[in-house]
Order: sequence, then C-alpha cells, then structure tokens
Amino acid sequence: MNIWPRNTSIENGEIYIAGISAQDLAKEFGTPAFIIDEDDFRSRIQEFRSALDITFGNENSGIFYAGKAFLSVQIAKWLAEEGVGLDVCSGGELAVAIAAKFPANRIEVHGNNKSAAEIRSAIEIGVYVIVADSLHEIERIEDIAKQLGKKQAILLRLTPGIEAHTHEFIATAHEDVKFGFSIASGAAAIATKKALDATHIELRGFHCHIGSQIFDSNGFDIAAQRVIEFMAEMKAVHAIEFPDLDLGGGFGIAYVASDTPQSIDSVINRMHEIVLGECKKHGLAIPHLSIEPGRAIAGPSTVTLYEVGTTKEVNLDGGQRRNYISVDGGMSDNIRPALYGAQYSVQLANRTSTSPLTSSRVVGKHCESGDIIIREVELPSDVKPGDILAIPATGAYGRSMASNYNHQPRPPVIAVRNGQARVILRRENAADLLNLEVNS
Ligand SMILES: *Cc1c(COP(=O)(O)O)cnc(C)c1O
Repeated sequence: MNIWPRNTSIENGEIYIAGISAQDLAKEFGTPAFIIDEDDFRSRIQEFRSALDITFGNENSGIFYAGKAFLSVQIAKWLAEEGVGLDVCSGGELAVAIAAKFPANRIEVHGNNKSAAEIRSAIEIGVYVIVADSLHEIERIEDIAKQLGKKQAILLRLTPGIEAHTHEFIATAHEDVKFGFSIASGAAAIATKKALDATHIELRGFHCHIGSQIFDSNGFDIAAQRVIEFMAEMKAVHAIEFPDLDLGGGFGIAYVASDTPQSIDSVINRMHEIVLGECKKHGLAIPHLSIEPGRAIAGPSTVTLYEVGTTKEVNLDGGQRRNYISVDGGMSDNIRPALYGAQYSVQLANRTSTSPLTSSRVVGKHCESGDIIIREVELPSDVKPGDILAIPATGAYGRSMASNYNHQPRPPVIAVRNGQARVILRRENAADLLNLEVNS
C-alpha cells in the first residue's frame, strides 16, 4: 500500500513532494517540519464526497472533517472551498473555525464535557448541530438556548456496544467508555425523551463513532444496524422519524507498506448497503447520512522531515547491534508511538546509499527512553548527522497532539503544491515559549 502523499516522487534517492525536494524544504524551512501536500488533502475530501454523491446522493449526505486530526485557519479555508463541514470538539477548535470565517451552519460540535462557555459560543454563532453526550449537557444546552432565545439542533451520541478491532485507547464505542449514551442500558432512550421534552432543543437524530484507524467494516456494519434499530424503536415510542444519522469517523489509513485499509469507495458503498437494508427492514425513510473522517483526510497528506543529529551503535543481547539514530524532534511532534505503540515508516530523503542495511531505531531528542519514533527498521549503516529522514503519514494527530515538552518549539506546517511551498503554521520560537511567563 502506498504510504506517501500522492504527489511524491523519488529521484536519485531524493524525495520530492509536489515537485520540491526534501533537502530544499529542510534548508528553507528548517527541521523538524510537517510538509503537507495540499492536493492530496483536497483529493481525499473529493473522494469521500464523490463516493457519497454516488450512493446516498449529494443532498442526502454530508462530511464533517474531524478538526482534531489537524486544524488551522488554512485547513478550515480548504474545507470551506471543498464544500464540506467541520467537526470541532473544543472552544479552541471553534475559535480557529471562526478565525477562518468558516460557515457556522456547516459546523458540528463534539466533546464529552463541553463547558457552558463553549456551548454558548456555539449556539450564538449558529452552528449546525451540537452532539450531546450526557444528560447534564442536554440540560445545559436547553438552558443556554433558552437564555439566547434560540432553538438549537442536536444529535445524541450513542454507544452501540462494539469492540472495533483497534487499539484500546482509540476504541470508543464498547460499553465501558466515557463517551455517549448506551443503547443497551436504556440510557439512550432516556436521553431521547429528555431531549424531546426540552423546548429549546430540536433533536434531529443520532450519532455514533466507534473508534479510529479501523480496517474492518464489520464494526461500522454493527454500529449502523444498532443505531438504526434504535431509531425504529424511538419512532415506535414517540411517533417521530428522525432525519439525521451520523456514523462518525475512524476510517483507517496505511502507515507502513503492509497496512491494507479499504478504499474510501468500498467503505462508503458498504455503509450505503447496510443503511439501506436496515432502514428497509424497519420501515424507515433513509436519513440524511453524515460521516466525520479526520485521519483518512489529513493523515496521508503529510510527511515529517527531521535532520539526523547523532548516531550511536549499541550491543544487544546475543551479539547483534542496533544503530540509534537521533533526530531533532520526537515525542513532542509525534506522540502516537509512545501513546499507542503506533508504527511508522521512514526513508533517507536526501541521497542514495549503497551501504548495507542495519537494524536501526529512530529516536527523538527528549528526556524519555520511550521517545521512540520507529522502534525497529532497516536503514543504511552510513546514515549520518546532517542527513534528512522523511516519515510519511504524519498528517493526523501529529501537529495537533504536539507539545512543548522539554520546551521544544512546535514545528511548522508547510503546504506544498505545484512546486510552490508556503508556511501555513509557522514554527514556534523562544519568544512564543516565554510568552506565558509572568515576571512579577
Ligand atoms: C476522533 C473522532 C473522529 C475522527 O476520527 P478519525 O479516526 O480521525 O477519522 C470523528 N468523530 C468523532 C466524534 C471523533 O471523536
């Protein structure tokens, strides 16, 4: 499976993204840096859009890009231009959307503990929908909408009770989780009644999100079945047919060549088949169908460039040796290996090498032995200080989860397109890091 952005080429060992060499990018913008292939990012949106157009139809389906995967003002502008919606899950993400003048009526608001202030600003600007996650939140939305003299559209986040085959920390829809209202326990039915009784809430339908980096469509199938069955039960009890169904995100991507995610087309086709079948079975009209891909849009678009600072050979038990290659970033710009044991690929990006491959570990510069980017990889034995390493598929949950651990400035994001590069988020500097200090 290809793991590089669509406009990547390799010539004489040098990696080019959208026509610009990794070496030139590193020289001009410094390292570490996130290089985002703008056309790749846009093309993934278009793929989801056309798959939905062909199946559910343009008017009857929607995409809400999950901003938590990676969001900036530029990204919000690209989304607006591509005609899709945005899912935000904090006041900060909402602030980025507002700064980008993103159309409020295409914003969906998530989160399991939205503050009163976050709910207020969402209702004030007129977001499309708030996805309510608890009874407290339904009350809060009702109170604030009442104060503002508005009626707010909401969905209820449901927990369909599924263990999607993914890492435990990124599986979100089995019973013992903080998210959503359980269908099985009756909590979802209670929440539905409460939302219908509220006078300043319009309950439009239901949402579920079963996890992330999912390869197997089985989880989506069962989630859709359970939520649609629940919609039928609620129709029977309340005599209301809810117009909206949102099946969340979680579509997997390839991080290493052996990963085999399904194509966007086949995931959406399958979803269409299941939704159609289940609605028919329960005598429901097909609801407006939304999805919330984050990783599958942002992830494949981006490559991280690092510069090698030091290398060190260590002896392992049994006489083998391992080359530790230290780069100028690490867990501060990519926490996923430490957090989830996530796997990545790497390539020497600035030259060819004829040296033999040797067992290597790519590590960061932080004061943690868990600061590992790639645990085990074969790299040429002559990788040396000054070389550029490229790690593909870092567009999702990289910059967005970046930290200032060790007071490391967070890397810039550089958009490349047709041989042109421009900074869309600049590198942090010492002044940024010192900006919060109060010298009283
Ligand atoms: C994280 C999340 C998404 C996006 O997940 P991806 O795996 O990035 O597609 C979508 N919806 C909700 C509610 C989420 O929490």
